[in-house]
Amino acid sequence: MKAKEIFDQVKASGRTLLTEVESKEVLQDIGIPATTTLLAKSKEEAQSLAGKIGYPVVLKIVSPDVVHKSDTGGVKLGLKTPEDVSQAYDEIMSSTKAHNAKANIFGVSVQKMAKSGTEVIVGMYKDAQFGPVLMFGLGGILVEVLKDVSFRIVPLTSRDAKQMIREIKAYPVLEGFRGIEPANLPALEETLLKLSSFVEEHEEVKEMDLNPIFAYKDGAIAVDARIVLES
Ligand code: ADP
Ligand code: MG
Repeated sequence: MKAKEIFDQVKASGRTLLTEVESKEVLQDIGIPATTTLLAKSKEEAQSLAGKIGYPVVLKIVSPDVVHKSDTGGVKLGLKTPEDVSQAYDEIMSSTKAHNAKANIFGVSVQKMAKSGTEVIVGMYKDAQFGPVLMFGLGGILVEVLKDVSFRIVPLTSRDAKQMIREIKAYPVLEGFRGIEPANLPALEETLLKLSSFVEEHEEVKEMDLNPIFAYKDGAIAVDARIVLES
């Protein structure tokens, strides 16, 4: 589906926050690789989708009332069998309800467990003065504690994309450091440039987060995505 159609559907249902499943469909339309992620509305459907996708899989809560899924036990990684999926489904439902009894639960998302790579994050937000801005950094503690991130105003040139990757302090990690596989820098640059063009063409997008993208020697793939529309 085209991003525009997805946005219209989301708005028609009275939401501004896209689910992970919807956000990744938008990435597919932009041409940014993401793990194929399907919505299951029951435990049986989750098991059947896991069988189709192929084990190991990941299950995550899909709810407009849950933004940080892992904070409330809403992410289960490395599920190897239908029994694992069944147990993960029950645990995700009970911990989500324990945190917010009123949470509107759409179901769970089922996706392939990606092989681990260097975790990178790419974000977009709108600055009051400069308008849309893209952010780049390494995932996890580096962004949260050290604020080791770079920014560029949209639209990005290819020089901007190259520079913003190279100017973070943790850049040596992306070059391959002490046995860490080097990241495919052209794939990351392409992600930034595609996102920049997309944001330029879609003013109704308020915020985007690809957090994390797993970077490998031979490419990069988003395993989580969040898009917020203007209200
Ligand atoms: P949150 O809403 O908490 O940000 P995420 O979807 O980012 O939830 O999942 C939390 C973490 O689980 C990610 O940072 C990543 O390390 C890991 N993860 C998520 N999806 C996958 C996947 N498909 N394959 C492998 N690891 C994953
Ligand atoms: Mg995330």
